[in-house]
Amino acid sequence: MTDYINCGDALHQLYEFLDGELTDEKRATIADHLDHCAPCDEAAKFETELRHVIADRCQEEVPEDLMHRIAAALKAARGEA
Ligand SMILES: [Zn+2]
Repeated sequence: MTDYINCGDALHQLYEFLDGELTDEKRATIADHLDHCAPCDEAAKFETELRHVIADRCQEEVPEDLMHRIAAALKAARGEA
């Protein structure tokens, strides 16, 4: 059974989704949302990319301007201008 969720819920659970902390059912729900929602898919890709960069650098501190860009991108995806 797949529930439909809105963008706010999808983004709210994005971190847990990427961390693999959700149940299979919830993962399927988020994945389904990302398949059909370009802004959330972009946010997920951006976050995934960022994690790769951070992992590559062995958890070097994330530059503050990058953190601001992430926050802005997530806000934009949520429709909070
Ligand atoms: Zn969405």
